[in-house]
Amino acid sequence: MAPKRAAVDTEPGTSGKAPAKPTPKRKKPSPPKAPKCGCRGDCRSSKCGCGKKGEACGDSCKCTGCRNPFKILKEFNIDCVEAAQDKCLMDNIFKIEDLRGRLEQSHELQCCETSVQLKDMFPGVVTCPDDDCGCEWQYSWCSNDFVDEENRPRNHCGICRHCGDYRDAHCERCNKCYFAGLSGFECPCKDRPPKPKGGMGSLGLMLWAMQHFAGDDSDRLSDESEDEGFF
Ligand SMILES: [Zn+2]
Ligand SMILES: [Zn+2]
Ligand SMILES: [Zn+2]
Ligand SMILES: [Zn+2]
Ligand SMILES: [Zn+2]
Ligand SMILES: [Zn+2]
Ligand SMILES: [Zn+2]
Repeated sequence: MAPKRAAVDTEPGTSGKAPAKPTPKRKKPSPPKAPKCGCRGDCRSSKCGCGKKGEACGDSCKCTGCRNPFKILKEFNIDCVEAAQDKCLMDNIFKIEDLRGRLEQSHELQCCETSVQLKDMFPGVVTCPDDDCGCEWQYSWCSNDFVDEENRPRNHCGICRHCGDYRDAHCERCNKCYFAGLSGFECPCKDRPPKPKGGMGSLGLMLWAMQHFAGDDSDRLSDESEDEGFF
């Protein structure tokens, strides 16, 4: 009798449905600190999932002979997260053959002829190490040189993937950088005839020519050009 009573006591009482069901299906809390890329090669490409995020490869990566540049930056104690936000760096660093050599390369800052090594001078804008100076410099990975951030700030175009003159701007119309000057004038492409695109191009060009050289013959010109102009 004893066991039966015990069963009756426990079943409908305290813990009816509770313990087993609502346990979470996901046991992985998605660890934030385990970089992993799907590379089979040496990770020396901006497609590497680790490099893209500015991370050195970890144990779970399957790469072989890894040359992820951020592995080297990490060795040099450089702030990889900040470095990865620099487009100029990201557009260049995967192409540099001898990154260690580049980092140890000496440069002379023009403000007071101080000699610096690149590894101490990025990411971001850095001040001349000379106490009395205070000049601000930024390294351009495109030109392998330091630019005077106060007077001629570095100007890397993320679309053209290149550092241009500090007065350059990117034109959305012709999708190129142009010299915009300090006042920011328009791209000279606005004065150029529209680019020929297939069949419509010749017509567009013709219309443009008509606007600019409109004269007595413009009517006749347009009539002819539609059917016979090019045949
Ligand atoms: Zn990789
Ligand atoms: Zn990796
Ligand atoms: Zn790797
Ligand atoms: Zn200086
Ligand atoms: Zn650049
Ligand atoms: Zn333009
Ligand atoms: Zn551009």
